[in-house]
Amino acid sequence: MSIVAIDLNGVKKSYNDKIVVNGLSLAVATGECFGLLGPNGAGKSTIARMVLGMVRPDAGKITVLGETVPARARLARVRVGVVPQFDNLELEFTVRENLLVFGRYFSMSAREVESVVPSLLEFARLESKANARVAELSGGMKRRLTLARALINDPHLLIMDEPTTGLDPHGRHLIWERLRVLLARGKTILLTTHFMEEAERLCDRLCVLEKGRKIAEGKPHTLIDEQIGCDVIEIYGGNPQELSALIKPYARRVEVSGETLFCYAPDPEEVRVRLRGHAGLRLLQRPPNLEDVFLRLTGREMEK
Ligand code: ADP
Repeated sequence: MSIVAIDLNGVKKSYNDKIVVNGLSLAVATGECFGLLGPNGAGKSTIARMVLGMVRPDAGKITVLGETVPARARLARVRVGVVPQFDNLELEFTVRENLLVFGRYFSMSAREVESVVPSLLEFARLESKANARVAELSGGMKRRLTLARALINDPHLLIMDEPTTGLDPHGRHLIWERLRVLLARGKTILLTTHFMEEAERLCDRLCVLEKGRKIAEGKPHTLIDEQIGCDVIEIYGGNPQELSALIKPYARRVEVSGETLFCYAPDPEEVRVRLRGHAGLRLLQRPPNLEDVFLRLTGREMEK
């Protein structure tokens, strides 16, 4: 098999004169977890739909698992598993029945599906829920069932749209742990997410999109080093504008976001010294993270 699982070359897509994907090129290697990040409307879902052959690009070339898409999307799709953003399980069916029904979509015989169901239930940690109606499951269990369902055809590539949106922290950690198991088994994952922590933990590489264009690409920690590269001091309290002017000469960059001041400080002690004597301030010094990168690239003030 090709070592490139997904290849996009100069891909463009517009809806009613609005450019949604603007000449995008990217390659996802077999066995890697690749993240698509970007604000709402950046084009992430459209890219995922084009990879699945559900949306036809206006220009450019897409290859998925060696097949040209959309022309040969059906051939690629038999080796792809999809975890959609919203669980679309059969609520009145049991956990086991959901898996059995889904297997039929892949033209698997009843016997074939039945032979893989136990290992899928085990993978999803749902052995004890095999005969429970889906409507009775927690959000985390439903997500794990959707993930198990996506694995029924033993796909090489998984496409996941915001896999942990709506889950509590426990449910989220469990999904992350399960995804790491899949990556250790050599699966390739294309992931869209709004959670920077998720991207930082799981993605080997990622790209940040804005208005259908790639504005950054790389390994999470390389991007953090390149874009931020020093500790961040978050400053709460006081007048952000005044404090900003005071510490600017001692910082690499200062940003005001709402009532918080973000100070990128190669020499944090120097900044702390300048702020001494200002009553009522609370300082949080921490290493930089992917959220800093994302907000720097796409603008902290954007949602205001
Ligand atoms: P994201 O997943 O990053 O939030 P999308 O790919 O869903 O972004 O959408 C990008 C833009 O394309 C949005 O402005 C959206 O309204 C538009 N769009 C997506 N699908 C369609 C469609 N079928 N018809 C018209 N506009 C669409």
